[in-house]
Amino acid sequence: MQTSIIGYPRIGALRELKFQTEKYFRHEISEADLQETARQIRQDQWLKQKASGLDFIPSNDFSFYDGFLDTAVLFNIVPKRYQDLQVSDLDSYFAQARGYQGEAGDVKALAMKKWFNTNYHYMVAEIEDDTVVKLANSRVVDHYREAKALGVETQPSLIGPFTLLKKLRYLGQKTAQDFKADLSQAYSQLLQTLAAEGVSWVQLDEPDLVYDLSVEDIQLFQDLYQAILPKKGAVKVLLQTYFGDIRDIYQEVIALDFDGIGLDFLEGRKTLELVEKYGFPSDKLLFAGLVNGKNIWRNHYQETLDLVDRLEAQGIALVLNSSCSLLHVPYRLAPEEQLKADYKAHFAFAEEKLQELQELKHLAGSDRQAEPAYQANQALFAHRPDADDAKVQARVQGIEEALFNRQPAFAEREALQKAAFNLPLLPTTTIGSFPQTKEVKKNRSDFKKGLISREAYEDFNRQAIDDCLRRQEEIGLDVLVHGEFERNDMVEYFGERLQGYLFTQYAWVQSYGTRCVKPPIIWGDISRPQAMTVPWSTYAQSRTEHLVKGMLTGPVTILNWSFPREDISLKTSTYQIALAIRDEVLDLEAQGIRIIQIDEAALREKLPLRQTDWYSQYLDWAIPAFRLVHSGVQATTQIHTHMCYSEFTDIIPAIDQMDADVISFEASRSDLEILDSLKAQNFQTEVGPGVYDIHSPRVPSVDEIKTSIRKILDKVAIQKVWINPDCGLKTRGWEETSASLKHLVQATEEIRHENERTF
Ligand code: GLN
Ligand code: ZN
Repeated sequence: MQTSIIGYPRIGALRELKFQTEKYFRHEISEADLQETARQIRQDQWLKQKASGLDFIPSNDFSFYDGFLDTAVLFNIVPKRYQDLQVSDLDSYFAQARGYQGEAGDVKALAMKKWFNTNYHYMVAEIEDDTVVKLANSRVVDHYREAKALGVETQPSLIGPFTLLKKLRYLGQKTAQDFKADLSQAYSQLLQTLAAEGVSWVQLDEPDLVYDLSVEDIQLFQDLYQAILPKKGAVKVLLQTYFGDIRDIYQEVIALDFDGIGLDFLEGRKTLELVEKYGFPSDKLLFAGLVNGKNIWRNHYQETLDLVDRLEAQGIALVLNSSCSLLHVPYRLAPEEQLKADYKAHFAFAEEKLQELQELKHLAGSDRQAEPAYQANQALFAHRPDADDAKVQARVQGIEEALFNRQPAFAEREALQKAAFNLPLLPTTTIGSFPQTKEVKKNRSDFKKGLISREAYEDFNRQAIDDCLRRQEEIGLDVLVHGEFERNDMVEYFGERLQGYLFTQYAWVQSYGTRCVKPPIIWGDISRPQAMTVPWSTYAQSRTEHLVKGMLTGPVTILNWSFPREDISLKTSTYQIALAIRDEVLDLEAQGIRIIQIDEAALREKLPLRQTDWYSQYLDWAIPAFRLVHSGVQATTQIHTHMCYSEFTDIIPAIDQMDADVISFEASRSDLEILDSLKAQNFQTEVGPGVYDIHSPRVPSVDEIKTSIRKILDKVAIQKVWINPDCGLKTRGWEETSASLKHLVQATEEIRHENERTF
């Protein structure tokens, strides 16, 4: 058995590429300097992979920003507005990735979207009717040669034509059909070039095959590869899929002339069934995705090897593979000095996954029971220190149906709350955070480093809260917030206060471009040792006559932005978090907080890729988890939630089932499209569709905001509408924030006035 990986992280073990690229953006280093850093990163990784014994080593998996964009550029798919800049290839590429403002012109960046169900974002490359699709650069060959010069034979990898055509944005009249002939031609040409270069295998990634496919999709895929494969020359082609199974096209795929097929056995719930039901051709290699490219737990050798045995017993020639690119896990465990060795033994980051592949390869061919590596792995799964908390487990076990249902029903609560709060029509509020100034951040980091006392730290925050409340009162907002000055991040803040979480120091994962995140790890059963937000919220409430919202992050978002456990279900982990947040909700209520917002910014993020799985695999527990959090409050305690970063139009009924009293969401950039769906689906929850975009420093005018409000009122009954910006304000400065919110309040007052006659 041989081994392979689909791709490797590329931001640098110490985020070297990030820092150098940012320097390049600031004109502090030259392109040659940046290219040298990139070359060094590639060299280190190839040599490391070779030394680990890996049989199939990828090349062209490096990227300065995003691999999808690289593929578009490779095939000359660059919108005219970027070509017209007439800057260097690298700068034109960065202009697409992040916009360009300078001597050569002024263009915005391409849109960015989540890459499947990961927290990585790809650039939505755009194609115009007159784009000439052709092979436009020699990058794939160059990287192959670069590795070869180091003595490393690699397998060039790139996004395949089907996924490319499916994910491109079409600016004109033309569609995928119009480009498929030229694109097939360009891929054939690339394969021939690589064949002539002596390359033996090329990997074409087609993750789009794991979605629900239409008849047209299947036809498009076949058309593309029936054109490409006969003209590929002597090179072998691996069709690589990941993030799910390919149930809609498995039979067509195995019938095509691929030399290898990569299937995901971890997220592909039906992969094994497909292989066993329809067989796997004996003249092809099966690249079996069994080492998790998305999570950081050690591979379970027994389970992997049992599956290897089972597949090999069917006469299948196997290559043991990662389940997806290792891009989605951090580099290496070694520098994590603050993690106890007992804990560390349970993790495998990219570098450790290379060792795992090597060990598995060895074990597959030996009497594994006698092997120390196998025994050590068995021992890991027999016991994990400090993970179990019997009390938490019993509490989850004991959740009764009634705990998912808040009483009385929404309509009755709505009337009671209106009477109790006596808020004006179109109440105004914000999403929670206010500008995180340098001083606010310094206060937190000084405290964390032990440079200032707890007292000094808290004093500063109390003053910041006072200042923030005064400003909100002056602006004239109705429902106030404390400002979230104590929080670095909406998930990390809670993770740090919950029992059962672990934190790393260097375990960065690329989120997009030069941005990385460091997701915390859910190690064990989750509980809340003590209140997490109550003192800040009650302090704020004690300082104003207005209502102050308590601010929490919801259980699904906390889960989705962490590395989850694999030994218990996501549902169980989420319910554990939900119970902890529930206790916080009840504490806030007991301390006099009458409105509590529970953010579920990332609810949509892990929605399964196949629509048929949406409810059974996800929403059927994600929505109840949210209900569990708030079902215990009084009728007159108002529960808000907030969502952003995604489209919600298709899950509106599920959002209503969260049974919150009010939901605010990001809508201003999508031109409030969501309103039609709310209306069509008779959405009950009160809504605050964001009336201006906070992701830009622009101050919206009163008239603009009035236009947004009118649009909302066209579709939603005025009694149900709240007025707020579309997301938290922490990335903004005070000046534009105050100005924008003043306009928001003024616009609201004017619209209220217009509506007075009707009320
Ligand atoms: N309450 C959070 C804030 O205002 C919500 C952030 C978010 O939606 N991403 O920052
Ligand atoms: Zn938001």
